[in-house]
Amino acid sequence: MADYERMSIKDIFAEEVFTDEVMRRYMSEDAYRALKDVIARGDELPRSIADEVASAMKTWAVEKGATHYTHWFQPLTEYTAEKHDSFISVDKEGKVILDFSGKSLSKGEADASSFPSGGIRATFEARGYTVWDCSSPAFIKRSKGGAGVLCIPTAFCAYTGEALDKKTPLLRSMNVLNREVLRLLRLLGDKDTKKVTPVVGGEQEYFLIDKNHYMQREDLKYAGRTLFGAPPAKGQEKSDQYYATIRDRVAYFMEDLNKELWKLGITAKTEHNEVAPAQHELAPIYSGVNIATDQNQLIMETMKKVAEKHDLACLLHEKPFNGVNGSGKHNNWSIISDTGVNLLEPGSNPAENRIFLLMILAVIAGVDEYADLVRMSASSAGNDNRLGGNEAPPSIVSVFVGDDLESAFETLKEGRSAVTKVKEYIKMGLPAFPKLKKDNTDRNRTSPFAFTGNKFEFRMVGSSASLATSNIVLNTITAETVRRISDEIEEKIKTNDLDHVVSEIIVDLIKKHDRVIYNGNNYSKEWIEEAKRRGLHMTNNSLDAYKCLLDPEIVGLYERNGILTEKELASRYEIFVDNYTKTINIEALAMRNIARKQILPAVMRSEGKMAAYLKDLRKIDANLGKAEEKIIRETDSLIVETEIRTTELERAIDKAKIIGDTVKKAECYRDCVLTAMNKLRESVDALELITEKKEWPFPSYGDMLFYE
Ligand code: ADP
Ligand code: MG
Repeated sequence: MADYERMSIKDIFAEEVFTDEVMRRYMSEDAYRALKDVIARGDELPRSIADEVASAMKTWAVEKGATHYTHWFQPLTEYTAEKHDSFISVDKEGKVILDFSGKSLSKGEADASSFPSGGIRATFEARGYTVWDCSSPAFIKRSKGGAGVLCIPTAFCAYTGEALDKKTPLLRSMNVLNREVLRLLRLLGDKDTKKVTPVVGGEQEYFLIDKNHYMQREDLKYAGRTLFGAPPAKGQEKSDQYYATIRDRVAYFMEDLNKELWKLGITAKTEHNEVAPAQHELAPIYSGVNIATDQNQLIMETMKKVAEKHDLACLLHEKPFNGVNGSGKHNNWSIISDTGVNLLEPGSNPAENRIFLLMILAVIAGVDEYADLVRMSASSAGNDNRLGGNEAPPSIVSVFVGDDLESAFETLKEGRSAVTKVKEYIKMGLPAFPKLKKDNTDRNRTSPFAFTGNKFEFRMVGSSASLATSNIVLNTITAETVRRISDEIEEKIKTNDLDHVVSEIIVDLIKKHDRVIYNGNNYSKEWIEEAKRRGLHMTNNSLDAYKCLLDPEIVGLYERNGILTEKELASRYEIFVDNYTKTINIEALAMRNIARKQILPAVMRSEGKMAAYLKDLRKIDANLGKAEEKIIRETDSLIVETEIRTTELERAIDKAKIIGDTVKKAECYRDCVLTAMNKLRESVDALELITEKKEWPFPSYGDMLFYE
């Protein structure tokens, strides 16, 4: 093993990745060129080249100590899946050889019957296929012992061809966005751009706590979040954790994490303490959404692994602790051309920048029209605990653009009656359209969807979610609105000049969609009222948000753009709903078990001890022990309440469990089980505050959030 401690970033960067440079070393120039062409065009790889790539990959991986390979894929969970096969093979003479063919590289067959498929794949037809995604580089993953597994990023589909994963629709959405934006660029006179790619930089928030504390908390182990816990004396009110000096123990963890990520070719760039105690953030440099999505999975996995090594536990849940900030995954998104232009970059004169104006308005229009889908893309039972909390983006979808852009839009809108005037504005620059200062566009941190100078930052996405879901939606809605813009241009330039047509479209888009623009404080009560007045989409829970996947409008959008079929969407809906139910069921059972088996026995024991003590005191003098008696009475009434509420929770679970209809069942979990859980938590947290610390069966919030 190399001595990473002493190596520079440059030495270790992408050491475990089958990079272009490695390919060139291990493959013939012809094969390398052919592969790059296939990647650029998105074609199928000819068998002969696949064989050569496979052989090169094997040689490289084996030299690096890898013994196995795996098709690495992203089923419809938030996680990745892998099944290892060793390179071992037996030749005709019975000799053991190391083999890896183009066929094994390109396509794999997985018995996929245990992955969620939402009814697409019947159990009798359990075959699933994994297909190599050569646009995302292969890499080596190592276990503790150091033995490596060559991981080949793949898409996962059913025998019948339906997508069973998140990568397939993501790749489809990238293609359609590329096609539609190129078409618009051509209409606007751009002849040079050959490809545009949506890029994303995902800021990953997480908590670190002591492993020993984690192991003592069944709620964290099973549910990923605390289900009980009275607030500690100090939370985040003094903002003394945000950007604060990173403690040594955490700094060591971050150092180690960075190295592991760099080895995997992940550009871990920014690290800092976040708002809540024990909360931190890591951001890589942005890259194409497909690669960024794969890499974000590796970031999450590596965080957990490295934490373990440091006797820490990494919590990726959206709301591990009540009362302090939850964790998100800010999805910074823009579109970059192969000529190096960011299409969301306003440039020095935004008013003359037709591409910028059309693109930013296309995104705004998409977010307005498909707000329900945007909201859906950030939905999960976990994120329900975070969204709408007073520190997280609310569940109302709106767009922040900053005062400069907003007033520029206003001016353009007013000029609508005289199109020539608008045309002049756009052509000649607009007094109300000053240079957009970056800091001026990002002073608002409360918006769920903010334009931050040259990219959109979608802040609703939950920390444990795959980046695929949100980016499929962003790519698709933008492709759709861009196509409509192109259609309109094509139609209108038959009778009018391009400048005029574009001006008119810009004004129409502003008029139609500026209701979704809001620069104020999204956490305020007034905003909810204002949003209602504007008729904006609002859903405060995931179950309702998922419903849009069955909406004919959304089905049409996905089918028109070739992202997912009605059947694939229905299966996703079913999986989301089912997953919601399972999540709450696990939480409810964990709560019940903790209450019955840990909390009630502990507080009863504590009460018994106090009672014995009181009895002794009263033997001396019947007037003694007034305080003890008071505490015993308070404790006892809370114990009674806790027992009753535990029973109520059990009844709620029983009631929900027997419901046959998947959606009704999930609704019962949301409406009855969650309510019973919240009530039980109230009693237990009150008990915690009056129980002697050493009698409490597991670490408190204070212990976990302020550890050494
Ligand atoms: P913040 O102030 O919100 O922390 P940063 O400027 O540090 O924002 O960027 C956060 C993330 O956004 C990083 O991952 C960064 O690489 C990414 N990012 C920067 N520019 C772009 C862009 N044009 N498109 C997509 N992501 C970007
Ligand atoms: Mg940010």
